[in-house]
Amino acid sequence: MANRKCKYTTSCPVFKGTLKEQDKPSFMYQNVFCNRGRDGWNACKRFHVYELSVNPPEDLLPGSCESVEHILSKNK
Ligand code: SF4
Repeated sequence: MANRKCKYTTSCPVFKGTLKEQDKPSFMYQNVFCNRGRDGWNACKRFHVYELSVNPPEDLLPGSCESVEHILSKNK
């Protein structure tokens, strides 16, 4: 079976539960995004930013409705 865990879990503060802006417990993010395979990762804004070899803004939540382009433009 393919690994369903996001490859950024070791560096991601949402997965580790260290992001202070989190509005839900970490296990809820993990169930919806991190441990759900490609469907979950694709729904995560942090994942898309990591995929561009950029560190996401510290306070970016997985379900943010900001576009990746907008996030990147603020991150310069
Ligand atoms: S799915 Fe998103 S929140 Fe979860 S570890 Fe990957 S980048 Fe972080």
